[in-house]
Amino acid sequence: MIKTDIIIIGAGPVGLFTIFEAGLLKLKCHLIDSLPQPGGQCSEIYPKKPIYDIPAYPSILAGELVDNLMEQAEPFKPGFTLGEAAVKIDKVAEDKFIVTTEKGTEHEAPVVMIAGGLGVFEPRKPPIEGLANYEDRGVEYIIKDPEKYLGKKCVIAGGGDSALDWAIYLTKKDIASEVSLVHRRSSFRGHLDSVQQVMDLAEKGKINLITEAEVVGIDGQDQVENVTIKHKKEGEFQQETDHFIPLFGLKPSLGPIADWGLDIEKNAIKVDTTDYSTNIPGIYAIGDVNTYEGKLKLILCGFHEGTIAVQSAFARIHPDKKNVLKYTTVNGVQGF
Ligand SMILES: Cc1cc2nc3c(=O)[nH]c(=O)nc-3n(C[C@H](O)[C@H](O)[C@H](O)COP(=O)(O)OP(=O)(O)OC[C@H]3O[C@@H](n4cnc5c(N)ncnc54)[C@H](O)[C@@H]3O)c2cc1C
Repeated sequence: MIKTDIIIIGAGPVGLFTIFEAGLLKLKCHLIDSLPQPGGQCSEIYPKKPIYDIPAYPSILAGELVDNLMEQAEPFKPGFTLGEAAVKIDKVAEDKFIVTTEKGTEHEAPVVMIAGGLGVFEPRKPPIEGLANYEDRGVEYIIKDPEKYLGKKCVIAGGGDSALDWAIYLTKKDIASEVSLVHRRSSFRGHLDSVQQVMDLAEKGKINLITEAEVVGIDGQDQVENVTIKHKKEGEFQQETDHFIPLFGLKPSLGPIADWGLDIEKNAIKVDTTDYSTNIPGIYAIGDVNTYEGKLKLILCGFHEGTIAVQSAFARIHPDKKNVLKYTTVNGVQGF
């Protein structure tokens, strides 16, 4: 049994910053995440994208933000259970929760903070026979490390921002040796500027733009070698490629969180904005996973919510102690 002061479910940016704010109050945190690495959406979906609205960082890569948050949390020695989804919360006493993961790991604490973001998210996969056999052997649903595609032929499918942005990035940075973008319509859903950039690159012969078409087949020995593309008018043809990257977005699902007796509205947990507590005393919800009037799903809002929630958690854990706000400039950071 892992024992701590606050169990945080979700090691996204909000969960990570909450370790620091809890640490300032001498509260120890243990984080659980179903993903194998910390960082939530920032690490999993867009580690190489710059973020422009983190206060005092005119621009910072999402992956760098996660590295910095880990460094900032380090003095408070957080514990991590990674690669395991939290599936159960049991309130065994007024001040004692037990959170159990899918692998049976048990965690005990007087307070639980749910920082589960979009929940457990799954990529939308096109219905192509045998596609699963090529996952991680040339088929990827998320681009984590663009360098992987250095000198490779890539077929990207999709019509949204993700497909457009990556087609542009892999072409403009001279990473992939060949980029094909396949989309089933002739118009795109993405940002107008990105659509224009793709059109310009296609006109210069740098992106092989195939519209009104779909990838319908895939083959290769151990790795992807070819995809079959079905064009509305021209019929089916084969295209040689090293990678097939369908970017049709992610399907967010609250997953097990929906079954914990919490008030849920539009796939998110309802909270009281005075301290981001849920309908179950002792359980808080912070970051993308919560909802309230005026909610914005932004990292900086999640940072605020975590900061306020730990103040309330302190009062629950130490009802006899008075907490006086102290500036870090005055007190410094006293780690554990
Ligand atoms: C492409 C893209 C660009 C973005 N750009 C910006 C931007 O410029 N500025 C900005 O402020 N925001 C941006 N966002 C939004 C931002 O990423 C989110 O607001 C932020 O990630 C929310 O952080 P979080 O910690 O609440 O949740 P998340 O980052 O979603 O992390 C939640 C974590 O909880 C885990 N989890 C969920 N359920 C369980 C469970 N039952 N057990 C264990 N683990 C669980 C998940 O695996 C995940 O790791 C962007 C998002 C995307 C997709």
